[in-house]
Amino acid sequence: MAPKNEEELTVALELLESVLEGTSDAILILDKNEDIIRINQSFEQMFGWSVRELQENELKTRIIIPSEHEKEVDGIIHHLKSGGSLPIHNTQRLRKSAEKIDVSISYSSIKDLEGEVIGFVLIYRDITRQKKVERALRESEAKYRVIAEHSTDLMVVLDTKGRVLYASPSHHYVLGFEVQYVHKHMLSHIHQEDIDRFIDTYKSAVIEKKSFKIDVRIKHANGSWIDIEMSGVPVINEKDEIESIVMIGRDMTKKKQAEEMMRKSEKLSVLGELAAGVAHEIRNPLTSLKGFAQLLKEAKDEMKMEYIDIMLSELDRINDIVGELMLVAKPQAVQYEYRNFNELLYSVVRLLDTQAIMKNIQIKCDIDSNLPPVYCVGNQMKQLFINLLKNSIEAMDNGGLIQLTAFYQNGNVRAILEDEGGGIPKDRLTTLGEPFYTTKEKGTGLGLMVCFSIVKEHRGSIQFFSEEGRGTRVEIQLPISADDRLT
Ligand code: ADP
Ligand code: MG
Repeated sequence: MAPKNEEELTVALELLESVLEGTSDAILILDKNEDIIRINQSFEQMFGWSVRELQENELKTRIIIPSEHEKEVDGIIHHLKSGGSLPIHNTQRLRKSAEKIDVSISYSSIKDLEGEVIGFVLIYRDITRQKKVERALRESEAKYRVIAEHSTDLMVVLDTKGRVLYASPSHHYVLGFEVQYVHKHMLSHIHQEDIDRFIDTYKSAVIEKKSFKIDVRIKHANGSWIDIEMSGVPVINEKDEIESIVMIGRDMTKKKQAEEMMRKSEKLSVLGELAAGVAHEIRNPLTSLKGFAQLLKEAKDEMKMEYIDIMLSELDRINDIVGELMLVAKPQAVQYEYRNFNELLYSVVRLLDTQAIMKNIQIKCDIDSNLPPVYCVGNQMKQLFINLLKNSIEAMDNGGLIQLTAFYQNGNVRAILEDEGGGIPKDRLTTLGEPFYTTKEKGTGLGLMVCFSIVKEHRGSIQFFSEEGRGTRVEIQLPISADDRLT
C-alpha cells in the first residue's frame, strides 16, 4: 500500500527503521550500482565493518565475498537487475578478520513506480552454528556408518512399521544375499515357526519403547538355516517418540556347533563311566549263564526247563542293558517326537540302579503313571536325567535315598530329583552350568552345562536348590507339546 500523505510516510519509515534495527539478521540495501543506501547495526556486527569503512573501500560491500563466490554473485546481481529475486541461498562470507562464516542470504530487488529496478535488499543470517551441528552430526553418522559397514554382525535400522531403512553389507557375508534384497524381503527369510514370535516381540518393543533380544532362524541364500541372536534397541527422539529401531544380529551357528561338540564329548565321557558300570552289570549274568550252561550239560531233564528259564531271564537282562547303552551312544540326527515319558524315566533309572546299589543308595521313583507324551529328543532327555542322577549318586558317599518325582502340571511335565548328598555351596548355585567347574578328581565339569543346554533347547527350565550337608533338589519343567515350545 503506497503512503498517501506525509504522516503515513513518517509512520512507514519509522516502522521500517524498527524492523531494520530490531532484527538480528544483517540487512544491506544497495542501489543499482551496488553503492550502499543503508546497512543496519547487525550487519556491522556480523561482518565487523562500519558503513564508513565500506564506503571508503575500493571493493565496497563486495569485500565480504570470498573470491571463489564472486562469479556466483555476479550472476545473482544480473538476475536481480532483470527484476528477479532469490529467496534463500546458503553460502559463505568473510568477516573483516578474514574469518569465514556460513550465511543464508535472501535477495530481492527494489523497483520504482514504473517497475524499473533501482536497488537491492540483501538479508544475511548467520548459520555457522547450525552448520557446525550438521557437520558434527554428519561426522558421527559417518563414524557409525564405518562401524556398521565393516562389522560382521548384521545391522538393520527399521522404522516403527518394520520397513528397512538401512541394512549393513554384512548381510551378504552372513546370509549370502545382496543387501538391496534385505530391503524388500526382510521377513520372508525368517523361519515360519519363528516369525509370529518375532513380530510380536517387535510390536511390543515399539509400544513399550523397550529393547529386546530374540533368537530366530534365518534362511541363507543357499537354503540352509542360520541361527541368529538378535537384539533390538529403539532410538527415541527428544519428543519421546520412537524414531527407528536398530537391530543387531549375530550368527550363532558356530557357537551352537561348539556346544554340540561339547555335548558329544560329554556323551563320550559319560559313556566311558557307564561302560565300567555296564561291564560289571553284564559280568554277573554272564557268570551265571556260564554256570547254568555247565549245569545244563549234566542236568536231569526235569531240571533243564528250570535252568533254561533262568538263563533266558539273564539273557534278557543283558539285552536290556546293551540296548540301553546303544540308545545313548548311537549318534542320531536330532529328532523331536512325542515320547512316553514314564518309559523314558524308568529306563534311565534302570540304567543307573546298579551304580546306586553299589554305593548303598536307593533310587525311589514317584512317577505319575499317566504322564502325557512329551515332545522331545529322546536321547537328549535320557542324557539329561543320566547326568543329574549321576551327580546325585556321586554326591552321596554314605548311601541314602534319591527321590525322583514326576507329574503333569499346566502344559508341562515337572520332574523333581532330590538327593541326600553333600549339597552345593550357595555361591556356586548361581554359576552352575559353567563348563569345567568340577569338585571331583575325575570330573569333567561338563555334565550340568549339557543339562542346561538340553533344557534350553527344549524351551523348558531347570532350577537347583541346595543346602550344604543336607542335599540337593533339582526341579525341571518341560513343555509337553510342540506348540508350547515356541512361547
Ligand atoms: P562333574 O560331575 O564332572 O563334576 P557337572 O557339571 O556334572 O560336572 O557338575 C559340576 C559340579 O557341580 C560337580 O563337580 C559338583 O561339585 C556340583 N554338583 C552337581 N550336582 C550336584 C549334586 N546333586 N550334589 C552336590 N553337588 C553337585
Ligand atoms: Mg556330572
